[in-house]
Amino acid sequence: MSVRTIALAALLASSCAPAAAGTPLPEGVTVEQFLAQCQDKDGWSDPAPPVRLFGNVYDVGTCGIVSLLVVGNEGHVLLDGATPEAAPLIAANIQRLGFKLDEVKWIVTSHEHFDHVGGVAELQRLTGAKLAARAEQRQALETGVVGQTDPQAGMHDPFPKARVDRIMTDGETLALGDLALTLHATPGHAPGSTSWSWRSCEGDTCRSMVFADSISAVSSDNYRFSNHPDYVAAFRASLDKIAALDCDILITPHPAASTLYERLAGEAPLASKEACRNYADFGRERLEARLQTEQKRKR
Ligand SMILES: [Zn+2]
Repeated sequence: MSVRTIALAALLASSCAPAAAGTPLPEGVTVEQFLAQCQDKDGWSDPAPPVRLFGNVYDVGTCGIVSLLVVGNEGHVLLDGATPEAAPLIAANIQRLGFKLDEVKWIVTSHEHFDHVGGVAELQRLTGAKLAARAEQRQALETGVVGQTDPQAGMHDPFPKARVDRIMTDGETLALGDLALTLHATPGHAPGSTSWSWRSCEGDTCRSMVFADSISAVSSDNYRFSNHPDYVAAFRASLDKIAALDCDILITPHPAASTLYERLAGEAPLASKEACRNYADFGRERLEARLQTEQKRKR
């Protein structure tokens, strides 16, 4: 390859890159503006402005549901799509930050319930992004109906069908340019519950980011966790796994579950090495309490 060809290739590559190295990332709205718009609002589709959480990580979701945009030098990854009604709001937030929708290359999700994946099909259509999921999420994502093994089967509205482009497994990494997001299978809240971890930096400060899935033992009225010992064993293993993650900044699909807004407001530190362990401990207490309640009702 001649020097001229190499120079041309470099020029073409740089002109295609969504964010050239060294380009400062957009700020989004201030935390104060974000919190003011979401004050006393926690609806799944309540519009929120885009806010930078840390480094290259933005919340582009609604006041009640987190949707994360992780920005890379060869495209971006979107984690969760909230509700069908929220999809256009999420797309508008990405554009409001100054990004083009087709810079979103991958969509991944936490778990296959209406409030977190209902908007995925529309966001896939708007961005052209590929969708990566665990095998346990696939059927619900592609049919829009929660599966029968889900403790919440029958409780959720159906949602638009998405197209799964890639199946990922526990411990696998989604690589895109300078991004590398690791998948952690954390079944329990839903069979396909999935947590994600990666490193993000802000200046010289780098943090282990964890988007830990919901861990609440919630079910339809006729479901008993104690009738499914294998499912409960997997649930407990998920809590152990989350507790053991290298974790500085915890983010959860429902912001209140990890007191995200209180931390953004400065009422508690945004980063804490104990965050994932405390989160898992709380989930464990609730699961064990639920199992005890089921046993009492049996007698
Ligand atoms: Zn859920």
